[in-house]
Amino acid sequence: MALQIHQFPCLNDNYSWLVHEPQANVTAVVDTPETGPILRALDQTGWTLTHILNTHWHPDHAGGNEELKAKTGCQIIGPRAEAKRIPAIDRQVGDGDEVKFGAATAKVFDVPGHTAGHIAYWFAEDKAAFVGDTLFALGCGRLFEGTAQQMWTSLQKLMALPPETKVYCAHEYTQSNARFAISVDPDNADLAARVKEIDAMRAKGIPTVPSSIGLELATNPFLRPTSQSLQRSLGMVGADAVAVFAETRKRKDNF
Ligand code: ZN
Ligand code: FE
Repeated sequence: MALQIHQFPCLNDNYSWLVHEPQANVTAVVDTPETGPILRALDQTGWTLTHILNTHWHPDHAGGNEELKAKTGCQIIGPRAEAKRIPAIDRQVGDGDEVKFGAATAKVFDVPGHTAGHIAYWFAEDKAAFVGDTLFALGCGRLFEGTAQQMWTSLQKLMALPPETKVYCAHEYTQSNARFAISVDPDNADLAARVKEIDAMRAKGIPTVPSSIGLELATNPFLRPTSQSLQRSLGMVGADAVAVFAETRKRKDNF
C-alpha cells in the first residue's frame, strides 16, 4: 500500500511531513518544528496523528513533541543514542531497526555527524528517505557533535540507497547551498543546470525538496569528494575522500 506524503513548511525554513498509510489509517509526522502548522496540516488532510518520527534532538525537530502527544496520544519514536534529549520519547530505535507503520516499514540508519545520535528513516518500497539535517539538497548538515569522518560514513549510507530514492531533507537551504556548490565545483555541468532550475523554482516559491539520491550524487559537492573536478578546484587532486569532504565542509562553514 503506497504511502501518502504531505509536505508543509514550518518556522523560517524547515519542512515537516505527514506520512499516511491509508490501509491501516496511521499517520506520522516526521519531526515537530512547531505545532501550529502540523495541527493545520492534520486538519486539512483529515488524518489523525498516530506517530511522531524524530530524526534528532534539535528543538526545530523535536520541539513540538510534548504538545502533540498531549493533544493526540501519539507514539513518539526517536534515536536511541540521544533518547534523553527527545521529549516524551516512547520507543528508541537505532541502526538496522525496522519501524512497522501499518503495511509500510521504515528501516533506520544511524547517521551521526550533525548530532551524535542522528538517525534517518528509509521507506524502501515507497522510495522515500527522511534524512533530517544529515543530507540537504546540494548540502549537508553542520558538524555540531560529530567529526568529518563520522559524517562521511553517514553520508555513504545514504549514497548507497537506490538513485530514485526521494530525499526528504528538513530545510529549504537549497538556493544558498547552490551558491556554495557552484563555487567549489564550477566545471560540473549537471550542477550548473541544476542551479538554474533551483533559481527558477525559488523565484516562483516552489519547494526544491524532496530531491533524489541520484540528483545529489551528480551535483552535491559533499557527496563528491572523489570527483576529479571538485578535487582540482580545491587543489586536492588524489587526496582521500575524508580529507576532501572535511575541506569542503570547512569552506562552507566560512562561505
Ligand atoms: Zn538540526
Ligand atoms: Fe534543523
